[in-house]
Amino acid sequence: MNLRKRYGWVRGKRAGRRAGSNWLKVCGLLVLAGVLTLVTVWNVPREGGDPGISGAPEGPESARPGQQPTPGPASSAGTSPADPDPEDWRLRLVNRWNPLPKDYEVSLILLTNSLSVDQRCYPALQRMMDDCRAAGMSPVICSGYRTWEGQESLYQDEVNAQLARGLSQDEAAAEAGKAVAVPGTSEHQLGLAVDIVDVSNQVLDESQEDTPVQRWLMEHCWEYGFILRYPSDRSEVTGIIYEPWHYRYVGEKAAAEIHALDICLEEYLDQQK
Ligand SMILES: [Zn+2]
Repeated sequence: MNLRKRYGWVRGKRAGRRAGSNWLKVCGLLVLAGVLTLVTVWNVPREGGDPGISGAPEGPESARPGQQPTPGPASSAGTSPADPDPEDWRLRLVNRWNPLPKDYEVSLILLTNSLSVDQRCYPALQRMMDDCRAAGMSPVICSGYRTWEGQESLYQDEVNAQLARGLSQDEAAAEAGKAVAVPGTSEHQLGLAVDIVDVSNQVLDESQEDTPVQRWLMEHCWEYGFILRYPSDRSEVTGIIYEPWHYRYVGEKAAAEIHALDICLEEYLDQQK
């Protein structure tokens, strides 16, 4: 869905380099640029073609984002230092008290496992996953961007499960809201949040915090602009239970400050007011 944009950028950059060359060079470079561009475009949306995930046991999906793209202008903005700004897209607050509008739009990039994320956080996510693997870990991204309809479906499934337990409609809705975010209030609808688990344990419960992947991510995620969004001791502030698998991109500067102060995003944004 964003390939056209990236394709155009890659082609544009190479066209810039060609300026001033003679015609022979121009022709050669054109052919080379065309081949490289085709290779780049071909690699991006493919699923499961990454050798880094070969041998991964069956799970929600393969773990690794698509082949490393050349970052474009939009993605570089995601990693450049900037003063904290509540209007900053990286710091957009989404929780039960701050829902997204139903028409919220995000420019997505596909990962190799068919999940997707906001393309602006992709380079940082790719680096984090690469470095986590280089450290000997086996992380698996099991959830990324969700559409409104996808979140609605998850929520309704949970409501139905509660109804099946004998609860009334109101009780079931209230109970479901504790486990699954009401549509519009999930960070996954932002495209800046990912759930990452260890390949050896793909159950989303507190046992995640003891896995090598989570220990590594909790120690290092801020270096890539991510935070553990729902810490164990901030549920009353975030409105969400402890989730030692849910990471949110906020940019490197904010992530470093949030990490150093040991606070959650809500508290950080309050400090910026
Ligand atoms: Zn999550």
